[in-house]
Order: sequence, then structure tokens, then C-alpha cells
Amino acid sequence: MASRRKIVPPLASRMSLVEASGIRKMFELGASLEDRIDFSIGQPHFDAPEAVKEAAIRAIREGRNRYTVTEGIPELNARIVDAVARRSGTRAEASLVTAGVSGGLVLASLVLFEPGDEVLLPDPHFMMYRHLVHVAGATPKYYDLYPDFRIDAAKIAEQVTPRTKALVLNSPQNPTGAVASEAELRAVAALAEEHGFLVLADEIYDAFVYDGPFRSIAEFTDRVLLLGGFSKTAGIPGWRIGYALGPRALIEPMRTLQQFSFVCAPAPLQHAALAAFDVDMTPWIDAYRRKRDLVVQRLSSTFRLARPGGSFYAFPALPEGVKEGAFVRAALDRRLLVVPGSAFSSQASHFRISFAAEDDVLERGLRALREIAAQGAAVRT
Ligand code: PMP
Repeated sequence: MASRRKIVPPLASRMSLVEASGIRKMFELGASLEDRIDFSIGQPHFDAPEAVKEAAIRAIREGRNRYTVTEGIPELNARIVDAVARRSGTRAEASLVTAGVSGGLVLASLVLFEPGDEVLLPDPHFMMYRHLVHVAGATPKYYDLYPDFRIDAAKIAEQVTPRTKALVLNSPQNPTGAVASEAELRAVAALAEEHGFLVLADEIYDAFVYDGPFRSIAEFTDRVLLLGGFSKTAGIPGWRIGYALGPRALIEPMRTLQQFSFVCAPAPLQHAALAAFDVDMTPWIDAYRRKRDLVVQRLSSTFRLARPGGSFYAFPALPEGVKEGAFVRAALDRRLLVVPGSAFSSQASHFRISFAAEDDVLERGLRALREIAAQGAAVRT
């Protein structure tokens, strides 16, 4: 039999800039660990609500198993546009049901970016952005969020050039949990208007906001492609249902590309996602606020930590003088999985924990983190 080397032709050069996710690596490392404390994975710890699961079973039984129209079923599009209009005060011109926010990001990147374009990404950021910008042949540039993860318009302005095509804004943010303030959103919107770039607003964590109402940049500018979804808010990350809202001139070509790629989001699950609008997720959000409080309370005296205002992540700084690799290994020795900050960033100075876990697991993991910090010099070797 021919060796693998002979039967696989050289890969497209774009793949040289796409590396496997640092989170997945962590997950694979820890997969064999028994009784592990998994703070590494970015999904809610709760299962889909019963009503949503029943709606999926019903949709399959009722034969909603064929392709839907490319843009997604009209009932779902209408509910999405209404829901977003209610909270952002502006009605999107057009919408598209996508295969998760990831599907929306793929379509948007391929429709918008090409060699020569620059795309502004936050540092740190959800790494998919950077990889998709590379796949599209464009150049990522970074606006720095350190040390407190606030958005500084002056730092963004320094990075803007005539080639800047878009800026990615992610609030509540992965990996830091930061929620953009109204002033920050207004400042970014003003820059978008002044320089004529598009804001790609990833609002997948919109429901997970703990210290006030969620605010969208769509309130302050029309130069927005808004991406959102059901993975986190309805506890259905495996269903692959998301949406893109924005100007018709952008949604239309994304729909055309969806025709020749994803075709449509999973048909029965589009019908079932409708049921998610009628489920009150407040108890879960309240539970996650308490978990956030617990993380801040348990870690703040030992780690430098910006209090997360949303999502279910915290991004503490590594203890003084401790190297990322040594810290992650010390955590693994305690069966604890965390994601090194360098998976999201040009800096290897922080680590991400997901607090979407049962309280007892959360307490055990937080205790392990405090122990590692207390170990001090021993971790440094
Ligand atoms: N954006 C952000 C910021 C995320 O954290 C994630 C999931 N980890 C996604 C997008 C992708 O979500 P989806 O399941 O909707 O593709």
C-alpha cells in the first residue's frame, strides 16, 4: 500500500497559518485523566431545556428533515430579528440562520476579506477570528486589551490604516469575561463611522451579563454585522444554530455562499430553536452570576483578576514569576484543566478558566488554583 506521504498532495499554503486550537489540545491532554476538574471547555454545564429537546424530537417525527431555504425558516428569522430589535432598539435590514456563530464567522470572513485587507482583533481574543482572517488571506492586527480588558479607542485608532476593513468586537468577551460599557461601544462606533470600517459584533454571550443590561454596538452605528446564537444561551452547542443580522448588501452574499457550503443550518433544529424563545433562562443566568462571584471571591486575594462582567470565563494573571507551561503542568498534576493565555493572545501572562461547572467542582478547582499559587517557587522550576 502507498504510504500516506505519497497519497496526500501538498496542502494549500493557507493551512500553514492555521494551528490546532489550544483549548482542544488541553481537552485531549486531559481526556485520559480520571476524576478531572475541567475548567477548559467553553460551553454551559447545563443540558438543553426539556421543552427545546421535545421540540427537536417532534420536528424530526413530523418530517422536518429536508433542506430548508438557505436563509433559514422564516418563523425563526422573524423571532431572531424581533428579539434583537427589542434589545438593541434597531431592526436589522436582513438576517440569515447560520451553522452556529462559527458558520456566520466563516461566511463573513470569506465574503469580506482578501489579501491586502487588515482586520482588527482584540488581544486576547477567541482564536477562531485570527485563523479565519488568515484563511481569507487577510492580515490580522491587534488592539490591546491588557491589563484590565477595557476597550481603549485610542489604542484602536493607532492601529487603523486605509486598509482596515473590519474590527471584531466581542462583548461579553471570551476569554476575559469583560463586558463593553456604553462609553466604549460609542467610542468604537464613532471610529467605525469616521474610518468607514465594519464592526463584526460577536454577541454569542449576550444573555450572560451579570451587572446590568446587555448593550449592543448596533445601538450606536449601522456599520455592524451582528452574530449571535443559541449554543451558549440555550445549552445546545452541538446543534449548530446561530444567526447573522445586518445590511442586506452583506447578508445576501453570505446567503449565496451558504448555498454552496453549509446549504442550511440543521433543519429540525431550526424548528426546535423556536422553542428556546419561550424558555426562561433567568435561573441559569442567576446561577452563573453566583459562580462568577465565587470565582472573584476565591481568587482575588491570590491572583490579579479583572472581575468578569459576563460570559462564563475568568482570565487571571499567572502568579508573579511563574511560567505558563509550569503553571499548566502544576494544574494538570491536580487533575485540573485550564487553558494557557497564549492560546488567545500574543502574551503568555494569563490563563483562562471556564466557571460553567457544578459548584462542588468549581470549589475544588479554585482550591487547586490557590494551592498552586501558594506553592510559589516550586512551580517556577
Ligand atoms: N464566538 C465566541 C466568542 C465563542 O466563544 C464561540 C464558542 N466557543 C463561538 C463564537 C462559536 O460558537 P458556535 O457554537 O455558535 O459556533
